[in-house]
Amino acid sequence: MRAVRFERAHDLHVVDASLRTVREGEVLVKVEACGICGTDVHIVEGVSRSTPPIVLGHEYAGVVEECGSAVQGLAPGDYVAVDPNISCGTCYYCRRGLVHLCANLRALGVDIDGGMAEFSLVPAAQAYRLPKEMPHELAPFVEPVSCAVHGIDKANIHAGDTVVIIGGGTIGLVMMQLARNAGSSHILVLEPIGHKRAMARTLGADAVLDPGMVGAEEAVHDFVGVGADVVIDCAGKAETARSAIQFARRGGTVELFGVAPIGQTIPVEPNRVYFKELTIVGSYVNPNTFDRAIAVLASGRVRFDGFPITRFPLEGIHDALQAQAEGRTMKCIIQPHS
Ligand SMILES: [Zn+2]
Ligand SMILES: [Zn+2]
Repeated sequence: MRAVRFERAHDLHVVDASLRTVREGEVLVKVEACGICGTDVHIVEGVSRSTPPIVLGHEYAGVVEECGSAVQGLAPGDYVAVDPNISCGTCYYCRRGLVHLCANLRALGVDIDGGMAEFSLVPAAQAYRLPKEMPHELAPFVEPVSCAVHGIDKANIHAGDTVVIIGGGTIGLVMMQLARNAGSSHILVLEPIGHKRAMARTLGADAVLDPGMVGAEEAVHDFVGVGADVVIDCAGKAETARSAIQFARRGGTVELFGVAPIGQTIPVEPNRVYFKELTIVGSYVNPNTFDRAIAVLASGRVRFDGFPITRFPLEGIHDALQAQAEGRTMKCIIQPHS
């Protein structure tokens, strides 16, 4: 079968890969769609953790082709989305319910072969059958939405809160909709790219601003008044993390959600954190939120209406990564059988 193999930083090819037989607890998935996100770009650039050589791709879905002998609850023909994050179940963190912080966490498409291939071998526990009412086009969004669901839990939004979302990409716009669902009354999205700002408006942001425009900072302060109750940085840059701390009100929450490059730092004035009594939280992957992400998508409470999606065959992976890195489209999807 054809697969996108990541060998080492900047070394990525479509190869002819062999596929071993299905083990008892696994399912063989015919991959219909695999999303690309910033993490894939970072992995290929060598600035995000991974264990190559691997087949890239962690946001994927498809049809079960074959089930191992011990698999229960799944059958050939089922349409499934794949949760890529596999915890060990026995380390300190797993035994305290913090499966996403597992000391031995491995991920499909990061540490073991993932979804940018015609077929993928998936531990059955990682495969979630989609409900009938959920359109299959939404399947590659389950993984990013599951991460955002964990993020919204940690952001601790209350009814009537003012929320600033920094970054209006896929994650920012999912987060915006989840913040609204969580009761936020005023949501501002900061995004430098025009078509993403337009999308944020379409999907229900109360205000949208280009952070690079003259007077942007004053405009944010005009919107948030004393400061935002919650600021969620979905961009993962030093300057956006700095802004997030600045825009939060006294007693507010700052969530660092976007994946910043390893080693990048910002100066934080401890006295400011103390005096503002800030809560600064991180949010990492998707502990037990995959099922809820499916529920959110199936209910239509998070929408992608009019979302510009660009689809590529496996051979288009380099173009797709470039389009993702440059923000030319909202979401790139690899379709291995197109
Ligand atoms: Zn991702
Ligand atoms: Zn563990």
